Amino acid sequence: MAWRHGQHSIGFAAQCAELPGLKEAVPWVCEAPSHCLQQTLRDLDQAFQNFFAGRAAYPVFHKKYQNDAFRFPDPKQFQVLDVQARLKLPKLGWVRILNGKGRHALKLSGKPKSITVSREGKYWFASVLCELEIPKPEPVQGPPVGVDLGVVQTVTLSTGEVLHVLGLRKGEDRKLARLQRSLARKKKGSRNRKRARARLAHFHLRISHRRRDSIHKATTKLAKNHSLIVVEDLRVKAMTTSARGNIEAPGRNVKAKGGLNRAILNVAFGEIRRQLEYKCQWYGSTFVAVNPARTSQRCWNCGHTDARNRPSQAVFRCRSCGYGENADVNAAKNILERGTAEGTPVAVCGAMPSGGRRSRNPRAQA
Ligand SMILES: [Zn+2]
Repeated sequence: MAWRHGQHSIGFAAQCAELPGLKEAVPWVCEAPSHCLQQTLRDLDQAFQNFFAGRAAYPVFHKKYQNDAFRFPDPKQFQVLDVQARLKLPKLGWVRILNGKGRHALKLSGKPKSITVSREGKYWFASVLCELEIPKPEPVQGPPVGVDLGVVQTVTLSTGEVLHVLGLRKGEDRKLARLQRSLARKKKGSRNRKRARARLAHFHLRISHRRRDSIHKATTKLAKNHSLIVVEDLRVKAMTTSARGNIEAPGRNVKAKGGLNRAILNVAFGEIRRQLEYKCQWYGSTFVAVNPARTSQRCWNCGHTDARNRPSQAVFRCRSCGYGENADVNAAKNILERGTAEGTPVAVCGAMPSGGRRSRNPRAQA
């Protein structure tokens, strides 16, 4: 906590200089490649810079076995043979990797810059960061589309189409509860507890992979087929903060909000938006985020705005002109209209200027 004592910064270089001393004092540090140790210090330095700039909270220690990852920054020190599915890493030597077969196999393109090795459950992944020049994409032809992100129907388009984000399947919430219960009952430090934890971790991993896959498919489809994509600028963080409040000012609706939070996080609004933003740049369509206020109460047909326009979760019926529509489709149409109107967008990112760089990050399973 040097900064609290007025000594403002211990930078990256200063910490690197301490490494040899640390290696003498703590022998197991020597087992890790020194480049990886330096990269970890660089990440720490960045975390502190983010903290001092007010972009992030005070850095906390990682929990052991959570977010396990390390990075090799020097392309001279590693080698990737994607045809033979092998990877050479400092101190580890040649490592066999599992790559997809045929057209599913990942091929590296561009110049490798670094390799990050990370662990998810019982699998290790190597992700290779490459740099390459990408020509400016041709503008995408296709109708503009409004996107409503909802909890019941995940992604509803103004065309009436629905794209689903897969999460827990029917009955799997019970399986999850059973696994959690089983872990809680095991004796601390026992081998059975370790096994139960691995089973639970593997279950979580499967669900998250299923979700990630369906989100990628949905966002790619949108970015490739529509010239303009308008989404609501939901502040996911504000939406998902707990309604519980504190002892002086207890929140209302705690239980209902908790359920909604779980549902929102389950479909990962923030991730959908993030992917749409960068994929629009890749494929050459335009991304616009608009203020979503009252888009679910406004009649797309006549503009009449009234909470009573929506008698139920799924139904929209205008009390002024009688226009009837699926409630999410009506909202998506309003969002599209807001995105195409002058001067309303809060965030736009169009196709990149020509010669722009982009990094692709193919992942291969080790
Ligand atoms: Zn109306």
